[in-house]
Amino acid sequence: MKPPLTEEQIMIRDMIREFARSEIEPVAQEYNERGEYPKEIISRLGRLGLFGMMVPESYGGSAAGAVSYSLALQEIAYSCASIAVTLSVTNLTAEPIMKFGSDDQKRKFLFPLASGEHVGAFALTEPEAGSDPSSLITTAVKKGRSYIINGSKQFITNGGYAGLFIVIARTSSGRNGLSAFLVPSGTRGLRIGKEEKKMGLWASNTVGVYFEDCEIPAENLLGAPGMGLGIALNALDSGRIGIASQAVGMIGACLHEALAYARERKQFGKAIIRHQAVAHMIADCAVDYEAAGLLTWSAASLKDAGAPFSREASIAKLFSSEALIRCAYRALQIFGGYGYIREQKIERIYRDARVTTIYEGTSEIQRMVIARETEREA
Ligand SMILES: Cc1cc2nc3c(=O)[nH]c(=O)nc-3n(C[C@H](O)[C@H](O)[C@H](O)COP(=O)(O)OP(=O)(O)OC[C@H]3O[C@@H](n4cnc5c(N)ncnc54)[C@H](O)[C@@H]3O)c2cc1C
Repeated sequence: MKPPLTEEQIMIRDMIREFARSEIEPVAQEYNERGEYPKEIISRLGRLGLFGMMVPESYGGSAAGAVSYSLALQEIAYSCASIAVTLSVTNLTAEPIMKFGSDDQKRKFLFPLASGEHVGAFALTEPEAGSDPSSLITTAVKKGRSYIINGSKQFITNGGYAGLFIVIARTSSGRNGLSAFLVPSGTRGLRIGKEEKKMGLWASNTVGVYFEDCEIPAENLLGAPGMGLGIALNALDSGRIGIASQAVGMIGACLHEALAYARERKQFGKAIIRHQAVAHMIADCAVDYEAAGLLTWSAASLKDAGAPFSREASIAKLFSSEALIRCAYRALQIFGGYGYIREQKIERIYRDARVTTIYEGTSEIQRMVIARETEREA
């Protein structure tokens, strides 16, 4: 796939590719098999500037821009989808502080995050509020110079390791009654639940998060009261470029694995790639890879240009995640029985792929956004 890239974007992509292939690829399978969060690798990626790629250097970030961020995530996801989602959610946490935070909040909360000191978590989903965040019931009640948060969040990526949470909670009734808060880990009344056992992404951390009279200073309100839903939806627009990028990287891995195996494996006296049915599966993966990569690049380019990109981010996320499901299926099919065996990378990709059509807005929600934005633009 060859979108027009600047020299700097190529340099960043190649640097992260080199890191991912030499430092992540050899150990990714073991971390995933052990279900272990790769703390040391994540810290190194933080020090390389991958936690705040949309954040200016003055606040600790690397200000690399959306296209470079997308390329970096693709390279990481090629080797380990779990590490890619850990980075994606950390960037998703940093960006709203950049956009909506006060100078004090940027110095206090954004700098350590973007400079790689710790990962971030974005706590929106609740047991009764998934696709419809406006129905969430966690409350934040103003009391003097504090807010007291009560409620619970579920499926929170990085929750067990995050130094900072952005928490969306209800400050009054209705759609405009949500507000966003900056809650550092270790705050009294913030409790991390047990780690979820998932179908895939075994080296990423997903937990429930509980707020029991969790008191934070009033100055930890991000933006103004009532801006919570807008902040969350804005963050998700960017997050969708992240998940699309994760999917593109994983499609690249499907293609690489399937191609290598199809050239090597012989049946009926010839390499299986010489059987037209197998070659066509490779061709279909190549088409999906090109299309997903270009759609994702297009959304990221619009973002870098300061243009609206909500519709394009949803298109990229919808297409790339569904293309990944198709490609993981085809690639595993090409491996035959061997693809079903745990030690094969394709088996891990097949499981890791499944969630990409679900988190940061399901495919059904992406179609709602795309239809709404298409009608509005027409
Ligand atoms: C591994 C993992 C990590 C996650 N990380 C985070 C995180 O860090 N932070 C966070 O806040 N959340 C996180 N999530 C939550 C994730 O974003 C939600 O699971 C997702 O938004 C869907 O919500 P739900 O699971 O409640 O499904 P539901 O909203 O209950 O949806 C169930 C089904 O109904 C469909 N549906 C719902 N409404 C409509 C509609 N209006 N029209 C058509 N179909 C509809 C959905 O598309 C889906 O098919 C994570 C989830 C997972 C699995």
